[in-house]
Amino acid sequence: MERGHPVLLFLTNDKTMQRNSMDKDIHLIRFDDEFKICPLCGYKDGFHSMLERDGEKVKWLFICPSCHQVFDIGRTLE
Ligand SMILES: [Zn+2]
Repeated sequence: MERGHPVLLFLTNDKTMQRNSMDKDIHLIRFDDEFKICPLCGYKDGFHSMLERDGEKVKWLFICPSCHQVFDIGRTLE
C-alpha cells in the first residue's frame, strides 16, 4: 500500500510510444459522475494522476494507488 504519496506527475515525450508498450495496460473507463473507486480492486480513496503525451494531445490518466492499474477516462489536456 502506498498511502500518503504526493500526486505523481509524469510527462513523456515519446510520440511513438504505443499503448501497453511499457508493461502497463490502460483501462478505458466511461466517466459518469465520479471516478473515485477503483473498478478493479475496490480501493475507495481516489487516484494518483499522470500525464502522457499522445501526438498533439496530452492524456490525463489515473493510477490506482492500491493495485497500480492505469485508467483512461477520456480526458485530455490541450
Ligand atoms: Zn485498484
